Amino acid sequence: MSKRDYYEVLSVAKDASERDIKKAYKRLAMKLHPDRNEGDKAKEEQFKEVKEAYEILNDDQKRAAYDQYGHAAFEQGGHGGGGGFGGGQDFGDAFGDIFGDIFGGGGRRGGGQSRQRRGSDLRYNLDLSLEEAVKGKTLEIKVPTFVSCDPCDGSGAKKGTSAKTCSTCHGHGQVQMRQGLFAVQQTCPTCSGKGKVISSPCTSCRGQGRVEKTKTLSVKIPPGVDTGDRIRLSGEGEAGEHGAPAGDLYVQANVKEHKIFVRDENHLYCEVPISFTTAALGGDIEVPTLEGKVKLKIPKETQTGKMFRLRGKGVKSVRSHSTGDLMCKVVIETPVSLSGDQADLLRQLEEKMGKSTSKHSPKETGFFDGVKKFFDDLKS
Ligand SMILES: [Zn+2]
Ligand SMILES: [Zn+2]
Repeated sequence: MSKRDYYEVLSVAKDASERDIKKAYKRLAMKLHPDRNEGDKAKEEQFKEVKEAYEILNDDQKRAAYDQYGHAAFEQGGHGGGGGFGGGQDFGDAFGDIFGDIFGGGGRRGGGQSRQRRGSDLRYNLDLSLEEAVKGKTLEIKVPTFVSCDPCDGSGAKKGTSAKTCSTCHGHGQVQMRQGLFAVQQTCPTCSGKGKVISSPCTSCRGQGRVEKTKTLSVKIPPGVDTGDRIRLSGEGEAGEHGAPAGDLYVQANVKEHKIFVRDENHLYCEVPISFTTAALGGDIEVPTLEGKVKLKIPKETQTGKMFRLRGKGVKSVRSHSTGDLMCKVVIETPVSLSGDQADLLRQLEEKMGKSTSKHSPKETGFFDGVKKFFDDLKS
C-alpha cells in the first residue's frame, strides 16, 4: 500500500504555515484520538497516519527533506532482506507523544535530557543447525542498520559548524503558551523539542547525524543455545539521530530441524529400527549420538516402541552445567523381500509356535480374549 501525501493527510496546502499545520493536526488528533473512538480500528489507523504526517511536517528539516525526496526520505531501505528485522514504533509511544504535545507535560519529551531519542533496537534471526547450536560457534553476520555519520561525528551539523541552542526555547525543547487562563507547556515549534537548531546541515547525512550502512559483526554463539534464545550485542543497534546513543542488537537463535534427532529442552530423541530377530533374541546395536555412534545392548524379548535412555548423551545446557539424555526409541522392522526359502522357514517357525500362542504372544492372546468378551457382552 503506498503512503498518502502528508499534506493531503492533514488537509493543508503545500505552503501551509507552521501554525496552520499545527492547527490542522490538533483538530484531527482530537477527532481521531483512540480514547474517543474506542475499538474503531479505521480511526486508529487514521490517527497514526495523521500523527506521522505531523511529525514530519512540523520539523523544518524533515519537512524540507520530504519536499525534496518525498516518502523516500524516511524509508529505511534495505531492511527486511536477509536477516529479517523487527522494529517500528509501539503503540505506547504514539499515545505518550500526543498527550505531551496537546495537553502539555507527561510526554516522553518532557524531561530535560531525554529529548535525544536512543536509536532503535534491532533483531537478527539466526538459523543454526542442531550441531552448531549444541557445540557453539563464532560467526559473522551482516546487519543493515544506521551508523553514526563520520564527517559530522553524528552531530548532523556541517563540518566546521555546530548545532546552536534554539533561541525560541533556550535549549529546553518546550515553551510556555497561554490558553485562556492556563499556561500550557508545548514542544518548541522551532526545534521540535530538540533544544538545538542546525543552520547548515551536514550533506552526508542530511542533518540526521547517522547514515545507512551494512555492518559486519562477529557473534559468539555459546554452546547449548536453543530456538528463541537471544544474544544481546549492546550498542550494536541503530545509531540515534543527532548523536543520540545507539540501540542494541538482539541475535535470536532458530535451530533448524535435524534429520535424526528431535530436541526437547536438553534431551534428544531419536528412533532406531531393529530387526525382529534382534528384538526377540537380544543383541548389540549401534545408535547415533551427536559425538558419533555408541553401542546399545538390546535385551531379549524387547517390544517395539521401547525407549532406552542414554544418560548424558543429550545437550549440555547453556544456563546450567547439567547435560540432558539421549532417548532412543527402538522400532521393530518387519522383514521385506523374503526369498521362498526364507519365507518357508518363517512358516515353519509359526507352525512350531502355533500350538501355544498364549506362551509366545501373550499380548495378542490377551487382546483377542478381550475382543471376544466385548462381543459376548453385547449379545447378553
Ligand atoms: Zn553527517
Ligand atoms: Zn526550541
